[in-house]
Amino acid sequence: MSKYQVNEKGYYGPFGGAYIPEMLYPNVEELRQQYLSIIKEKSFQEEFQSLLRDYVGRPSPLYLAKRLSEKYGANIYLKREDLNHTGAHKINNTIGQILLAERLGKKRIIAETGAGQHGVATATVCALKGLECVVYMGEVDIERQAPNVARMKMMGAQVVAAKSGSRTLKDATNEALRDWINNPVDTHYIIGSVVGPHPYPDMVAKFQSIISEETKRQLKEKTGKSNPDYVLACVGGGSNAAGMFYHYVDEEDVKIIAVEAAGHGVDSGETAATTVLGKEGVLHGSRSILMQTEDGQVIEPYSISAGLDYPGIGPQHAWLFKSGRGQYVSATDEEAMQAGLQLTRLEGIIPAIESSHALAHLEKMNFDGSETVVVCLSGRGDKDLDNYMKYFGF
Ligand SMILES: *Cc1c(COP(=O)(O)O)cnc(C)c1O
Repeated sequence: MSKYQVNEKGYYGPFGGAYIPEMLYPNVEELRQQYLSIIKEKSFQEEFQSLLRDYVGRPSPLYLAKRLSEKYGANIYLKREDLNHTGAHKINNTIGQILLAERLGKKRIIAETGAGQHGVATATVCALKGLECVVYMGEVDIERQAPNVARMKMMGAQVVAAKSGSRTLKDATNEALRDWINNPVDTHYIIGSVVGPHPYPDMVAKFQSIISEETKRQLKEKTGKSNPDYVLACVGGGSNAAGMFYHYVDEEDVKIIAVEAAGHGVDSGETAATTVLGKEGVLHGSRSILMQTEDGQVIEPYSISAGLDYPGIGPQHAWLFKSGRGQYVSATDEEAMQAGLQLTRLEGIIPAIESSHALAHLEKMNFDGSETVVVCLSGRGDKDLDNYMKYFGF
């Protein structure tokens, strides 16, 4: 048993667990008892693998970025999750969870979304399976993210505005939880990252672990070795990173680097650099590290990238950080935007601003020319074009 993977009690070191209201216990417990055996079923694996191949377009390529490699003096490979159907890694998880929901006999799917990326990935798999879909989204986010709202509606999802509090992601999460409490029998709640009560962090990590499973095989074919010197990924809640790290956490020769969003800077008051500022506590059902005030109020995070704008990290990341297995760093808005523009100009690939944060860290590393580096390119930048244009004044 790996000391970096979840134990039978649902913990990663001191982090994880299921801190939930009594009313949610039956829903979460049903999932906990069944998820491992369902995922192992032959029919589940066959359908999961065939959808990943024929619907998502996997395996995603592992691309040796030659001009980027020359620039930094290392062999830099990009794991191209940006080429997946719907444009990011999130679909790996929603496909897995929709198949699980079907096998649990659920007829109705709910989800929360901030920028709308997870909402779109959820609405997509509900259309694919003909299941009812309700996506909770803050009223403010609905205004800010009109194209994603349109996508969800076109797929047949109902988008419900959360009108309480700051009318953003955390309020949408509260509404989704309330819905799940009221509809425990027929409804499955698809969480979009490696957060939430056990078994969500482990379940989502397992669905995303296809990223490192493929990387090992692809790297072996290309270089003769399945282990690179470094793997890098950006961290919001931490699902693309968890997938990129999954099959490498016990390979101590592989250095793990996770990049958080520093926003305007870690000391600016406008940041999402959780491991720099965070303290241990409970958020969204699990014990982890989160940004909070002295008296335990969650601090509103900020990042130019909507997908990294989260005040916590998943419990596995809290453990990789605390145990020293992973190096947790951060990149500012400015560093990420420059790295995104640079990748576009060097390789003809426009990355999601989230992924640009991982790329930005390359600038701070020192290579001797021989190292192999894999960067998880979690998503494509089409959704961010307006942001890039405004930022650079094109
Ligand atoms: C949502 C998102 C992220 C952040 O979520 P994680 O769970 O941390 O992976 C990163 N990149 C892209 C492209 C996203 O859409």
